[in-house]
Amino acid sequence: MAANSLPTAITAPPGEEATEKKRKYFDIDIYRDWCKSCGICAALCPKHCFTRDDTGGPLVVDPDSCIGCGWCEIHCPDFAISVHPRPTITPTSDNSEAD
Ligand code: SF4
Ligand code: SF4
Repeated sequence: MAANSLPTAITAPPGEEATEKKRKYFDIDIYRDWCKSCGICAALCPKHCFTRDDTGGPLVVDPDSCIGCGWCEIHCPDFAISVHPRPTITPTSDNSEAD
């Protein structure tokens, strides 16, 4: 077996592996019925997760860059954004003991 065919978790240096395990990802939900397309969320997001559509409404273009800071949620005047941790996909073998 060639070394480069091994999974990343085995071939990555210990430091890189630890960093990847700690990295959290977030999902960003926009409630269109409540959004008035003011653009505050797109203007304040420090990671540029949004662009704006033709009406000025936010479009999530880079959710993987979201750091979960909550600025968009806090400043949205209409409570039209929800940011929450992305569920972790657990390998099936990890669930076997819970059954
Ligand atoms: S801040 Fe809220 S109301 Fe304004 S564009 Fe963003 S989601 Fe819509
Ligand atoms: S939580 Fe922060 S980084 Fe994530 S989309 Fe909102 S403002 Fe951007």
